[in-house]
Amino acid sequence: MTKALFDLSGRKALVTGGSRGIGQQIAVALADAGADIAITARSLDGLAETQASIEDSGARCVALAQDVRDVEGSSRAVEAAAAALGGLDILINNAGFENVRPSMDVDEALWDSIVDTNLKGAFFCARAAGRIMAGTGGGAMVNLCSLTSFVGIPTAVPYGASKTGLLGMTRALATEWAPQGIRVNAIAPGYFRTAMTEAFYDDQDWQSRMLAKIPQGRFGGDGDIGGVTVFLCSDAAAYVTGHCIPVDGGYLASI
Ligand code: NDP
Repeated sequence: MTKALFDLSGRKALVTGGSRGIGQQIAVALADAGADIAITARSLDGLAETQASIEDSGARCVALAQDVRDVEGSSRAVEAAAAALGGLDILINNAGFENVRPSMDVDEALWDSIVDTNLKGAFFCARAAGRIMAGTGGGAMVNLCSLTSFVGIPTAVPYGASKTGLLGMTRALATEWAPQGIRVNAIAPGYFRTAMTEAFYDDQDWQSRMLAKIPQGRFGGDGDIGGVTVFLCSDAAAYVTGHCIPVDGGYLASI
């Protein structure tokens, strides 16, 4: 009975930014839990590794090009994913981008590239998916927030603004769409070594300083996000909406 609550067999899931890093980890986990998967990214070639990994495990995976900053094109990609899978029950708003810079030097182009990807892009994917889910009895969405949704981090102002906005969006959509059976939650990853964050990890002093702030004494790894995402998308979380689960080794609890 309890095991069945976590079973995603027959569910149709779209993971934006599914080519690498956290999005790849989530797509593989959702497939492992039984879902049919669509993954998107700007680079179609970049999706091949995730697609092969999921298909090799015997699950279904559709790969589609999508730039979440392009509202019309991005919405069409969500609709195309639903058409290819035969429905849409799960949306993971994972596509994201960070570029740290002292705030005095932030220009409009940098602000727009970060906020348009992380916040505006996520909203219009949610809108496109919500329109589909509302007509088919509901669904589950998970937005990838950040520690910067909760704390201020110097030189990450556009990123922090976008991720704090994404947390507000999560809460507001959860309340608005609950009557349609659409649950909207978020995950706030702590420090995970990915292409987006790789440059920080080249600095051993930075690594030492960060590890000292993480009670569990390690950075996030390959098995840390997928299970939490499966939970939030599954019937085990049927009465959970509008919340954000930090997956951070205790970082937020310690400050
Ligand atoms: P990566 O850079 O490793 O992966 C980002 C993914 O998003 C890629 O698949 C990329 O593919 C895609 N992407 C980027 N821009 C766009 C776009 N405009 N349209 C569509 N797809 C896009 O990042 P992470 O795995 O580290 O991050 C994933 C999410 O987790 C992000 O939202 C990030 O903010 C969040 N996060 C990550 C943390 C970490 O420590 N790594 C911590 C907290 C939050 P392509 O370039 O081909 O488009």
